[in-house]
Amino acid sequence: MKKLLRLENLTFICALLGLVCGLFFPELAKHLSIFGELFILLLKMVIIPLVFVSVFLAIANQSSIKDLSRLGWLTAVYFISSSALACITGFIAGEFLPETASAGLRYENYEAAKMNSLSVKELVLSFFSANPFRSLSEGNIIQIVVLAMFIGLATLRISREKQQSLVRFFDALNDVVMVIISWILIVAPIGVFSLVAAVVAATDRSAFEGLLWFFLATAIALFIHVFVTYGALGFFFGRFHPYRFLFTIKKAILVALATASSNATLPVSTRVMIEKEKVRPQTANFVLPLGATLNMDGSSIYQTLLVIFMAGLVGIDINFTQQIYIFFLILISSWGTAGVPGGGIMMIGAVFQNVGIPLEYLGLYLLIDRFWDPFVTMVNVVGDLFGTKIIDRYIVSKEQHAST
Ligand code: ASP
Repeated sequence: MKKLLRLENLTFICALLGLVCGLFFPELAKHLSIFGELFILLLKMVIIPLVFVSVFLAIANQSSIKDLSRLGWLTAVYFISSSALACITGFIAGEFLPETASAGLRYENYEAAKMNSLSVKELVLSFFSANPFRSLSEGNIIQIVVLAMFIGLATLRISREKQQSLVRFFDALNDVVMVIISWILIVAPIGVFSLVAAVVAATDRSAFEGLLWFFLATAIALFIHVFVTYGALGFFFGRFHPYRFLFTIKKAILVALATASSNATLPVSTRVMIEKEKVRPQTANFVLPLGATLNMDGSSIYQTLLVIFMAGLVGIDINFTQQIYIFFLILISSWGTAGVPGGGIMMIGAVFQNVGIPLEYLGLYLLIDRFWDPFVTMVNVVGDLFGTKIIDRYIVSKEQHAST
């Protein structure tokens, strides 16, 4: 009984109860939505200090610039290759979409959406801000990461004594944030119940007719990416049991599903990796915040399939060179996708424009996205957690090798 009542199990049971409540008691689900909103607010409350402090500590705690650049390189290689593999999986799944996949969907049925597209130049510039306080008050995660990196790197250049006092201060702050996260997690079962119930109650299931093939292809592609791609990466590069790993990180998976936000899941992911998976804090604190903002493998798969599917709706024939173009477009788009619910909307609009898909189709996107966002977010988060574990394992084994 005690085991059954463990927090993760309870969270899982509450997610299922939420599903039942949303399906059969939609009115009740709407009344109870306050608990879910409160849970997200509490998670958001700790995100900014968590991101700033953890990125700062991850850099300032490195013993040398050499260690830091090794961690940076490994992270970049992992992010780029896992996103590329995700896109390829999306393309392969897209090959199996039958010509009739979109039968029955008429574009006039959907409300036109007005979009601003984001150019590569704007995307790069959006990483920086002239006013650090504005980035903090607006909760612009990517700008906060860049700011923390600058301050962390500069700290490595000041006297050892001053560096230590700064690190000690932020270390204490980090402990405080971790204690608050453990308190928030106590109410996770109620929050997850309420979030799942509210989403299920608000979903108009009849609108999904005609999308069966798209849904099937997306589900299979996401499944393959988690169980085959991450499974192989974890097994061959990280040398750990990938499925046991998936079981250990289940709390982060549930929170990702319930919140549909990589950023909101970050506090839970960090705790799970450091406490359960025993990953060194300097790796987790560096890779996870970056992953929650940049590495979106689920979004890459989903966006690739969406482009193929929507292009089919409009009658655009995608040849091989166009596939390569879309591949790079989606890579950039997934890096620019914000780790918030529906974060892909800004970027997918730009991709549609570049491919020649009318922006009116964003209405259809918004409809489908409600359903897919939790699953896509879950894959985004799982990708970051696998990456953190693989990179940490690699660095530890190299260090052990060097000391023998
Ligand atoms: N909701 C996703 C996330 O937070 C991003 C997306 O919309 O693709 O990871």
